[in-house]
Amino acid sequence: MSTISTETIATVKSTIPFLQEHGIKLTEHFYKRLFAGNPEVKKYFNSANQEAGAQQRALGSAICAFAQNIETPENLAPAVSRISNKHASLGILPEHYPVVGEHLLGSIDDLLDPAPPEVLEAWGEAYGFLADVMINAEKEIYAKQESQKGGWTGFRKMEVFKREHESKWITSFYLRPSDPCPVIPFKPGQYITVRIPTADGSTTMRNYSLSGSPNWDHYRISVKREVPRHADTPEGYVSSYLHTKVSVGDGIEIGPPCGDFFLGDHSPEAPVLLISGGVGLTPLLSMLHGTGSNPTTFIHAAIDGENHALRDEVEAIAEKVSNVEVHFRYSAPSNEDIRDANHHSSGLISNDFLSDFITPDTQIYFCGPKPMMRHIYKCLDEIGHPKSQTHFEFFGPQEELES
Ligand code: FAD
Repeated sequence: MSTISTETIATVKSTIPFLQEHGIKLTEHFYKRLFAGNPEVKKYFNSANQEAGAQQRALGSAICAFAQNIETPENLAPAVSRISNKHASLGILPEHYPVVGEHLLGSIDDLLDPAPPEVLEAWGEAYGFLADVMINAEKEIYAKQESQKGGWTGFRKMEVFKREHESKWITSFYLRPSDPCPVIPFKPGQYITVRIPTADGSTTMRNYSLSGSPNWDHYRISVKREVPRHADTPEGYVSSYLHTKVSVGDGIEIGPPCGDFFLGDHSPEAPVLLISGGVGLTPLLSMLHGTGSNPTTFIHAAIDGENHALRDEVEAIAEKVSNVEVHFRYSAPSNEDIRDANHHSSGLISNDFLSDFITPDTQIYFCGPKPMMRHIYKCLDEIGHPKSQTHFEFFGPQEELES
């Protein structure tokens, strides 16, 4: 693999203040330029994330982090793993990198109006280095997906053979191949990609964590219908499509399991704490199915009983497996929840609440709505829990939890 020259490192580092101040402006400009110049790549991006600015913020922080760690690229390994998995889930190929590189350098040039030649040269070299790292990481993922029993790359037609209503807004879809071949038994915590046609004749893709346990036969995803947050915004495209247009017997296209959020190889005594909020329970429920001998606590936060999905399944696991404990926490329990004792505690997740479930050797996995994740991250930081024992998944473009 190529290395980055000392001059390039110095020049890229000299652009850090610019990136810190104008990173978002740069990435906003970049996406506009990319979609205008190469509209064929639009299908790889979620327009709702673009609209919300989440994709621009995520890319802005990633570029800045790359510049800050250019001398110590090993620090970027977790980000490379997460992003290459995400890219592989969407089918990103080596030929996409020069297109992105052209618009990234073009955007730096446009914003600096014009950029000094040494800055463009340095960023060209640095981007080439990063592109090589990503291409190789993605190549490895594709090769592994293809070579596994039941494996494939690209998109494969699945038949929905069962639909299950799990809560007010969450429905599970059971998917098995339309061909007679098996499927890859994923690692609990991983996700697949669903590809759906759009009105303009293109397609759009979304990731969905697999919510069941690994097997050779089928997958289960559990999808929350995203209703509009405001009267003038559309409802979530793919989740509504699945909820309203996909019935038992219908076919949908999916990509193979991806993702690096799965249970690590912990010692059998290490306590495992799985914390989920809302539909964020999907990867954690899958992990709960596969916790093995580790003493495991599953905390699920929901608004109330009506919004609490897959409760029976979690309780059945806890009943069957002696080392599993569950705790349901509702932020706004209904009178019925209180009467029927549907939950173990009420309120938001707090330091005091979490402390009761954590020892210094606990391995913590969490996933949920962004405000809850930020809050848990802050609580764990205040408790002083080691970051190396804290693992999480975001249901959207990665944004800094610290901010
Ligand atoms: P989108 O069309 O993407 O819209 C998202 C939100 O933006 C909606 O609230 C919508 O109303 C709003 N919106 C859309 N367009 C606009 C606009 N023009 N202006 C303003 N607002 C707008 N989800 C699950 O339900 N279950 C899972 O197990 C799951 N696992 C995931 C795993 C991973 C690794 C990731 C990254 C995500 C996961 N998600 C999961 C989230 C899922 O991928 C989708 O993001 C989610 O279903 C919403 O997609 P959508 O197409 O329905 O909504």
